Amino acid sequence: MSGVLVFCETKDGKIKKVSREALSIGRKLAEAAGGDLIAFASDGAAADDAGRYGAKTLYVAAIGPYLPESYAAAMKQVIAQAQPSIVLFGGSSNGRDLAPRLAAKVNAGVASDVDRLSWSGGKLRARRPVYSGKAFATVEVISAPAMATTRPNAFPAQEAGAGAAAVVAEISVAAESKAKLLDTKIPEAGELSIAEADIIVSGGRGLKEAANFSLIRDLAHALGGAVGASRATVDAGWIDHQHQVGQTGRVVSPNLYIAAGVSGAIQHLAGMSSSKHIVAINKDPEAPIFRVADLGVVGDLFQVVPALTEEVKRAKAH
Ligand SMILES: Cc1cc2nc3c(=O)[nH]c(=O)nc-3n(C[C@H](O)[C@H](O)[C@H](O)COP(=O)(O)OP(=O)(O)OC[C@H]3O[C@@H](n4cnc5c(N)ncnc54)[C@H](O)[C@@H]3O)c2cc1C
Repeated sequence: MSGVLVFCETKDGKIKKVSREALSIGRKLAEAAGGDLIAFASDGAAADDAGRYGAKTLYVAAIGPYLPESYAAAMKQVIAQAQPSIVLFGGSSNGRDLAPRLAAKVNAGVASDVDRLSWSGGKLRARRPVYSGKAFATVEVISAPAMATTRPNAFPAQEAGAGAAAVVAEISVAAESKAKLLDTKIPEAGELSIAEADIIVSGGRGLKEAANFSLIRDLAHALGGAVGASRATVDAGWIDHQHQVGQTGRVVSPNLYIAAGVSGAIQHLAGMSSSKHIVAINKDPEAPIFRVADLGVVGDLFQVVPALTEEVKRAKAH
């Protein structure tokens, strides 16, 4: 066994950021472990992107939108053909769904939600948060292949510089899915997903009511970021669950995380404390969110947030 296989998700023939991040760390691991970087996608148009990120071969199965059983069957076939030492998945909803299913099929171990990866003594070594992000565990995956899902934004997406498209190898998979895709809901136009955003502005119960999420949206749009939310606001029906940050929502690591009217409960911190820069706006100076904040504003969000939005717009206009 040698080389690294990366599961790539695509949109309009382009490889999504979370998969480009997995390809980038996959390339480094392939250099360390020996063997080629190879990729899998359900769209052959991804070959250009895959090549730019260093993949030599792109295995393609034209199996349409994500369904766990058919994708697991396709990836299993690629593993049987390519015999990689390592298999990586970007930690999106699909990647986190597929990795354990495939691991069970090929009797492999998976380190999930990792933010560091290395090849050490012939083994895949991974660092992953435990106890809701309060500690880190370093684990070794001793199976062959060894699998991991990468935390979004933890590994920078870097092109290889070579620029050649990956060679496409078509594989055919028997349609063996017991599930059927009935409907796909596309987020509102212009709404970025918190899973991939570099900047997230989150609102909490301090917003008082659903309509006031417009303040958070205005600041997020001014910054070119995504809208996040605490569970309290999601449970209250103020905003959809796809925006929820935390233990039972999304785990995010953007470059900038702004929390307004969010207390910073442990379950919320579990989803955002690995963000690179954290700004908290809260009228309670004792709010736990300030313990993880790089910059804290003790004040009324109804004054601070609109003023910040205006300032950002002014700065961007120059
Ligand atoms: C099993 C389990 C899983 C959970 N998973 C999650 C999860 O994934 N994500 C999550 O977020 N929570 C989660 N929770 C819930 C979590 O414990 C908290 O209840 C929740 O995060 C609180 O949301 P909040 O900060 O918006 O509200 P609150 O705790 O009510 O905080 C509101 C904050 O707004 C401030 N505020 C009020 N008015 C203003 C103002 N005008 N200006 C500025 N600040 C103001 C207050 O000082 C306060 O700090 C989970 C709980 C459990 C038990």
